[in-house]
Amino acid sequence: MPTPKLPQIRHDLAQLDGYHSPQITVNVRLNTNESPFEPPAQFRARLADELAKVQWNRYPDREAKVLRRAIGDFHGVDAKNVFAANGSNEVLQSLCLAYGGPGRSVLVFEPTYAMHSQIARVTNTEVISGTRSDDFTLDVAYVTAMMRDHQPAITFICSPNNPTGIVEPKQTVEAILATASEFGGLVVVDEAYGQFAAWSALSLVDETAGLVVTRTYSKTWAMAGLRLGYLVGPGWLVDAMEMVVLPYHLDAVTQLAGTLALEHALVMEAQVAELVEERGRLSEAMAQLPVTLWPSGANFILFRPNKHDGNDVWQSLVDRSVMVRNCVSWPGLDNCLRVTIGTRQENNTFLAALTEILT
Ligand SMILES: *Cc1c(COP(=O)(O)O)cnc(C)c1O
Repeated sequence: MPTPKLPQIRHDLAQLDGYHSPQITVNVRLNTNESPFEPPAQFRARLADELAKVQWNRYPDREAKVLRRAIGDFHGVDAKNVFAANGSNEVLQSLCLAYGGPGRSVLVFEPTYAMHSQIARVTNTEVISGTRSDDFTLDVAYVTAMMRDHQPAITFICSPNNPTGIVEPKQTVEAILATASEFGGLVVVDEAYGQFAAWSALSLVDETAGLVVTRTYSKTWAMAGLRLGYLVGPGWLVDAMEMVVLPYHLDAVTQLAGTLALEHALVMEAQVAELVEERGRLSEAMAQLPVTLWPSGANFILFRPNKHDGNDVWQSLVDRSVMVRNCVSWPGLDNCLRVTIGTRQENNTFLAALTEILT
C-alpha cells in the first residue's frame, strides 16, 4: 500500500505565521486592549428580553437593516453607508476580498496592526510594507511617494495606530486620500480606537471619495465577546461588500446586541472619558520609570524598558499575575511592550509590579 497523500494547505499560506496572543490566566489582563468594564446591566436585561422574541427557526435579516440604521443614526449617516460584519477583522477581510486579490496589492506602514497584512495575504493580495519615521509618525512625502510608486488597491492607515498609539493628523489623511484618487486606490482608516482620539476621519467619508473608516464593538463598547465591527463608507462600496460576504453572515443575536448597545452611548462615553483620564495618570507615572514612552491617543501605551530586557520584563509581570502585550519581536518595536489601560485598581497593580521590576 502506498502511503496515503494528505491534503496540503495552499502553498502561500504555509509560509504565514498566524495571529498569536497568549490567553494565560492572570489577575490583571492588560494585553488585548479590551475594555475593563462590563456593558451596563440594563443592556443585559434588554438583550435577554429581546432574545426571547427571536424566531430561531428563521434566518436573520440578511441586510441587518435595523442594526445598520442604528449605527448610521449614531454617526449621522444613512444605513446605506454602513456595512457590519463579525468583528472589524471580517470587515477588513471583506474589503480585501472585494478590492484586493491576485494581481493587486495593499500598502501598510510598519509598525502597525498585524492583521492588515495578515488578512491581505490570506486573500492572496500582495503586501507592500512601508515604514514609519523613528518617532512612529507618518512622513507625508514618503507615504504619498510610496503610493504613487506602487499604486496599491488599498492603503491601510490605523489611527490611533495599534501598537504605537499615534493619531494621524487630518492633513495626513487628506493628502493620502488625494493621492489615492489619482489612481483609484481605496484608503481604509482603521479606527478601532477612534473614540479615544481627538478627531475622526468619519468627517471625510463621501460618495465621491475612495475612503472607508472601520470601527469595532470590541474595544470602546466593552463587547469583545460579541463579534461585531463595521465600516462607514460610500454606498457603492457597501453594495460591493454584498458580493463577498456569506449570506446571513450576521446572526440574529449579534444584530440585536449591536443595536441595543447603542442605547447606552452615554455610559460608553463616560467609560471612555475615565480611561482617557487613567491614560494620562498612567503615562505620568510611567514617565518617572526607566522606560521610553510614546504619546497615545488610544486605550493603551507603548513603552520600551531602557535598561531591562523586554522579554524578561514581560515574564516578570506575568509572574506577578499581570499580562501586557509582548511586542519585542514585532517589526520596528525592539524591546517594546504595550499595556492596555485598565481600571484604576488594575493600573495601580501594573504600576507597582513594573516599578518593582525596573527599580
Ligand atoms: C482590536 C483591533 C481591531 C478589532 O478587531 P475586531 O475583529 O473588531 O475585534 C481592529 N483593528 C485594530 C487596529 C485593532 O487593534
